[in-house]
Amino acid sequence: MSHAQPYPMSAATGQFLKRRHRLFIGGEWVDARSGDDIDVLNPATGASIARVAAAGREDIDRAVAAAREAFADGPWRGMTAAERGQILTKLADLLAANSEVLTEIEILDTGMPLNPGGALAVPTAVKMLRYYAGWPSKLSGHTLPADRRPGAASPPLTYTRREPVGVVGQIIPWNYPLAMAAMKLGPALATGCTVVLKPDEKTPLSTLLLADLLREAGVPPGVVNIVPGYGEPAGAALAAHPDVDKVAFTGSSEVGRKILQAAAGNLKRVSLELGGKNPFIVFPDADLERAIEAAARSAFFLQGQNCQSASRLFVHEDVLERFVAGVAAAARGLQIGPGWDPATRIGPLVSAGHLDRVQGYVASGVQEGAELVTGGARLPGPGYFMEPAVFTRTHRDMRIVREEIFGPVTCVQGFAASDLAAIARQANDTAFGLVASVWTRDLRIAHQLANTIRAGVVGINHHGSGDIYAPFGGFKESGWGREFGAESLDLYLETKTVVVRYD
Ligand code: NAD
Repeated sequence: MSHAQPYPMSAATGQFLKRRHRLFIGGEWVDARSGDDIDVLNPATGASIARVAAAGREDIDRAVAAAREAFADGPWRGMTAAERGQILTKLADLLAANSEVLTEIEILDTGMPLNPGGALAVPTAVKMLRYYAGWPSKLSGHTLPADRRPGAASPPLTYTRREPVGVVGQIIPWNYPLAMAAMKLGPALATGCTVVLKPDEKTPLSTLLLADLLREAGVPPGVVNIVPGYGEPAGAALAAHPDVDKVAFTGSSEVGRKILQAAAGNLKRVSLELGGKNPFIVFPDADLERAIEAAARSAFFLQGQNCQSASRLFVHEDVLERFVAGVAAAARGLQIGPGWDPATRIGPLVSAGHLDRVQGYVASGVQEGAELVTGGARLPGPGYFMEPAVFTRTHRDMRIVREEIFGPVTCVQGFAASDLAAIARQANDTAFGLVASVWTRDLRIAHQLANTIRAGVVGINHHGSGDIYAPFGGFKESGWGREFGAESLDLYLETKTVVVRYD
């Protein structure tokens, strides 16, 4: 690993970082009344790269009031579907035009390597916005049958309207901030909602640049408000706010529970995208090279700081040795370094605290008797780097198998049985249910496990979500609701039934 290379940063990124970063409320940059700020660090060096105003409770009140006014006055809802679609398309175009700066900021702020995570961040956000730009003109209700009431000449006309749920609080994590913001804003804006978006305190920068682009695209003032801030008080205040109609959250299951409790006050709608402990099941007839490559790619994408990570690998004993050797070799071959180096495949973890947490899991795995095949060591020097780790001989009672690590650590366990029900029970032996995958050429095995594994997405010779046209979300403690695809619109719409008597 080398830190010698100075990181290449365009003049535009340099200027952006030097800006006075305030809160974006009602279409304006405003000072935080809290008087607090956040020191944003580059995880590859530990050095400060920007200071950002941190929203407090009063600032959240202001942002919610701006969103409420924009919702009630209807500058966004009042536009034609075509106009809203055009603005979302323009926003996507602006993101694409600012790709270089946004990518640099995302790498400096989160630590993600350019290849493959950083290079995908802007295209992913652009694709999502383009997808949602097509939706305003396709939202429609139904006409329903109705019985004629006694004495009436004709039955009432009964139809449904799909209406925006109202003011939405969106709370996103640090691992993929720009794509997360696009994923959340797309369906909210397509349906006519107004939004208060709170990025994670560690990674607020790309969403602040996004605020400029929202304004340039023609999103009216107050329709999207962007308020960086800590979970407590800003996130908690947004989740509990009595004038917020819905909260959409991506993050840990632990905070998901707090959001639910906070939302109970005014019974706001809640959608949650939470953690995963995702089974990846390899049968002896699988294309082993492909399975090894996919397991390593998924387990270590964004340093394993991804909720779809292949973190529980179940491998048939006939191919276990070859598989473990293959994944370990792949892990050792991943170059560790700062994200801006195109050769880097493993960047730093997001913070010193998170690195400590992941290191704690590595130590607990060793202590509980798992075999550490490769990696796991923290690297000396500045920045929050560690080697990607592969454990084998793991079992269900170990913490590394039960808890979400959200770091570059994967756990292999062998299986001998051909009893598919027993294999499904093992895969389902977790509190989570986000994604799973089955690696086999046998259609019977593939479809039986696709039916019995309790997860929001099951891949066959594929691991991870489908394209954004397909719903994505979790069973069990992995969440509530589905993002992506047509189902994501449902999270932001209320159905109203209109009954018209005209006899
Ligand atoms: P986190 O839950 O600590 O933080 C997420 C967000 O919640 C941040 O914006 C944070 O400021 C805010 N927050 C913290 N405390 C809060 C509170 N009391 N009230 C309201 N908001 C609060 O999670 P994290 O450590 O930032 O992210 C990692 C987690 O996110 C992992 O568990 C991972 O699986 C999950 N994740 C899930 C998905 C998915 O789509 N399912 C995607 C990415 C990450």
